[in-house]
Amino acid sequence: MIIRKKFRFEGAHIVRNCTSPRCRENIHGHSYEVEVFLKSDHLDNGFMVMDFVLLHNVAEFIHSFDHAFTLWDQEAQEVKDAIYCINARVVEIPVSPSAEGYALLLYAVINQIISNALLTNGERNVKLHAVRVHETKTGYAEASTDDLALFLFRFDQVKFNSGITAEWKDKSWWNQILVQE
Ligand SMILES: [Zn+2]
Repeated sequence: MIIRKKFRFEGAHIVRNCTSPRCRENIHGHSYEVEVFLKSDHLDNGFMVMDFVLLHNVAEFIHSFDHAFTLWDQEAQEVKDAIYCINARVVEIPVSPSAEGYALLLYAVINQIISNALLTNGERNVKLHAVRVHETKTGYAEASTDDLALFLFRFDQVKFNSGITAEWKDKSWWNQILVQE
């Protein structure tokens, strides 16, 4: 059975090297919707694949991008310096922040968060099935496990600045991700 939880965030970016000049040459933002699909061949004691309350670290991760600038680590240094100068909240990532890049990044990290989740109510074989990132009302990109081969990166290449981490209730979920490289 497949279950889905939807998250939202308001994010800013530039998508370098894309076809549209508006997207590649301008800082702009989107109201993102992220759909997280989980799958299991088993139901827990509450007849659930997994209670959504167990996705609190997924929520913390996705909401880290809210009202933040998502910065590709291949940006020119002067752009990076300007972004860090004017934004309190910056996430620097190894993939370009296209919807596809987000889907890939979110799939990889959420997959690890789900693997780390403490499951004590009879949940079994819970897998991340897919992550779908809607950048607009009409378009989305979806990543699943086979897509991880599209671009290889390490989790320590994802850098949340202090404006973001200072708002985390608990930092252990991200430290757990980093030690599992
Ligand atoms: Zn855009």
